[in-house]
Amino acid sequence: MPNGSDQVYLVTGSNSGNSQNYLKQAILLIERIKNTKIITTSSIYQSKSYGPIKQRDYLNQAIHIETKLNPFELLDQVLSIEDNLGRVREERWGPRIIDIDIVFYGDEEISTPNLTIPHYDWKNRDFFIACLEEISCPFVEGNGLSLKKVKKLV
Ligand code: ATP
Ligand code: CA
Ligand code: CA
Repeated sequence: MPNGSDQVYLVTGSNSGNSQNYLKQAILLIERIKNTKIITTSSIYQSKSYGPIKQRDYLNQAIHIETKLNPFELLDQVLSIEDNLGRVREERWGPRIIDIDIVFYGDEEISTPNLTIPHYDWKNRDFFIACLEEISCPFVEGNGLSLKKVKKLV
């Protein structure tokens, strides 16, 4: 990709329906975002659900992309991919067929009602750290956390 692209790290998640397939479909759709290229994807990791609602285990995967879209344009794209895959927004943190979070966008820091970058809670989520570390995300490397609760699946 020519100059002017930013290095971005996404993490996808799913714990409803055929989760492995939803993660795969998300990659295929991310690949089709304009002015955006996938550099690498991590293995899929399985972890216990996080947050107040009891639900099925999650599968998560990190995706390193290069994009010329700005963070807000990219957010629009990932939210519309969630819609296209059929995500229905019910309770926050409830089960979902697909979730796509922008965890890092270069070294940008953004704090608006619709977009917070880096992801506000990444340091507390072992499943983010495990999959991002695997693909050498510079912001989490050597984080040194114990990742016992996260199991590498595929
Ligand atoms: P969490 O944000 O705790 O991981 P969640 O992913 O389940 O929870 P969603 O319902 O998917 O939350 O998203 C709610 C809103 O979060 C989105 O509509 C989006 O505007 C906003 N948002 C803020 N920062 C980000 C980000 N870095 N990546 C994706 N969405 C974000
Ligand atoms: Ca999320
Ligand atoms: Ca989300």
